[in-house]
Amino acid sequence: MTIVRLPDTIVNQIAAGEVIERPASVVKELIENSLDAGADRIEVITAAGGKNLIHISDNGTGMTRADVKMSAERHCTSKLADDLLDIRTLGFRGEALASIGAVSRLCITTRNGAESNGWRLEVAHGNILAEQPAAHAGGTSIEVADLFAKLPARLKFLKSDRAETAAIAETLKRIAFAFPQVGFSLVADGRQRFDFQPADQAARVAQIMGNEFAENALVIDAGREGIVLGGFAGLPSFSRGNAQSQYFFVNGRPVRDRVLAGALRAAYADVLARDRHPVAVLFVEMPSGQVDVNVHPAKAEVRFRDQGLVRGLIVGAVRQAIAGDGFRGSTELSRGLAASFDGRRAQARPAVSPGRDWRQSANLPLGGPPSASGLAEDQSTFDHSTPSGEVAMSEPGDADHPLGAARAQLHENYIVAQTRGGLVIVDQHAAHERIVYEALKKGLDRNVASQMLLVPEIVEMEADEAALLLDHREELLRFGLAVESFGPSALAIRETPAILGEVNGAALLRDLVDRIGELEVGEGLRSQLDKVASTLACHGSVRSGRRLRPEEMNALLRQMEETPNSGQCNHGRPTFIELSLRDIERLFGR
Ligand code: ADP
Ligand code: MG
Repeated sequence: MTIVRLPDTIVNQIAAGEVIERPASVVKELIENSLDAGADRIEVITAAGGKNLIHISDNGTGMTRADVKMSAERHCTSKLADDLLDIRTLGFRGEALASIGAVSRLCITTRNGAESNGWRLEVAHGNILAEQPAAHAGGTSIEVADLFAKLPARLKFLKSDRAETAAIAETLKRIAFAFPQVGFSLVADGRQRFDFQPADQAARVAQIMGNEFAENALVIDAGREGIVLGGFAGLPSFSRGNAQSQYFFVNGRPVRDRVLAGALRAAYADVLARDRHPVAVLFVEMPSGQVDVNVHPAKAEVRFRDQGLVRGLIVGAVRQAIAGDGFRGSTELSRGLAASFDGRRAQARPAVSPGRDWRQSANLPLGGPPSASGLAEDQSTFDHSTPSGEVAMSEPGDADHPLGAARAQLHENYIVAQTRGGLVIVDQHAAHERIVYEALKKGLDRNVASQMLLVPEIVEMEADEAALLLDHREELLRFGLAVESFGPSALAIRETPAILGEVNGAALLRDLVDRIGELEVGEGLRSQLDKVASTLACHGSVRSGRRLRPEEMNALLRQMEETPNSGQCNHGRPTFIELSLRDIERLFGR
């Protein structure tokens, strides 16, 4: 056995494996260098998902001849930090250019303002080919071609050109959030994907996420013990089916971090279904000694000195913003609605024949194409004994409330109310669910009033399910739900929360078993209780499907206005939608 020292080219290739995983990692490293060099305009051009070509040009400081020579050597950096816990530049490891040069053909063209001409350095798969003077206007242009061409094993792991292009675009966007004052453009395979002009923070978020998000986001602005949290969090009703639209930044560095993602999830736990994910762009600023960014070569992970503090700040601030704004429905929803009943489309529906009763087409918006019995149904649910016009008259001030004055109830579940600027349609069931949920949570501290059942309801279930519920007997009791053992595989319900009215005990207990079964170990008692409350609230459908009197409708609207988070039910569905007069006029082409 003979031990030999690995040649530099091999060492660099091994090291490159950690830093350069795919074309998007090249883009990330090069952009970070441009930003560290003070550029405020960065242009990226790619071909074949970056596998054939990545070209990045910036208007930063550029490099002198001496610098460019060393720039592609390993562990050579101009950003030396005395203290790895106090890092203020994006790069600091002096590895990126060496790594990229080890696994591609790299060509750097640059000119520093102090020198009269520029320089070009060419590196191919670890070997420096040439270093010569070159004409260059200023700043730095870097070309990376044939990435991984000599490493077929790596090449095999790359995804399709489209997927790699998408990853590059995503990487660029993440960085663009953090540097709104810098212009970024991406041209991939000859097509301009975006061109973000320099902007302020809010405008940049809108450039990247779209105006829709900007209009449906809450501003987050909070601080605690030297940590500052800013950014935007989407309304619960603006949620998504996956967690990809969540962007976190720590001291300006885009990160993927479990602590931050977990905190965001916790902040929305109350207002979103488990399979929905909030949309958010959050910036955390903290003294550099409080966070370690040198955890991973790609610098995408961080370690907080006090993660409880960071988590608490996010959960608290986001929750507060949601609660404070529980009232805004999602404009996306009402807009989509308005678009969906565009007059021409309604006419194209075969169900609507010309000359039909006008009331039927007026019903289109709520129920879609009217069924054959549509009209009859509507007549039966419309309460003719109280002409709708009079409802508002009884309470002249109602129209001034945000949710307006109730005018009618349709299909025994939808309350139509007139507001100052338009109309509101409330899903009575969803609204009630939220109100009950908030009432249960509020009642927790003083024990929720219960109602004794005349005859206990016996619910059969698996022995271990019964045991699970009995383990949580005390918690359930706090909500006014009293259960006790009834033989090995049944429970007896003696009392139920009064606010729920009549409940289907078997269905309720089954849901509780599911929900309690999935509680995470170590989850705080408070959040466990919230989950129980949310489960209970689903079963308190006392008012849904019930015809309401005008006073009851208005009372429900007023209750919603006072209830935190009342813009959505516990599953994140909206409890009401609002159509402005302008939207309505647009629908009629006025
Ligand atoms: P690091 O960024 O960690 O210092 P890199 O390998 O990414 O390591 O870059 C090495 C050095 O090359 C940097 O420290 C910087 O001095 C120089 N450099 C790289 N890219 C640029 C650029 N776009 N403009 C100016 N200087 C650059
Ligand atoms: Mg770098």
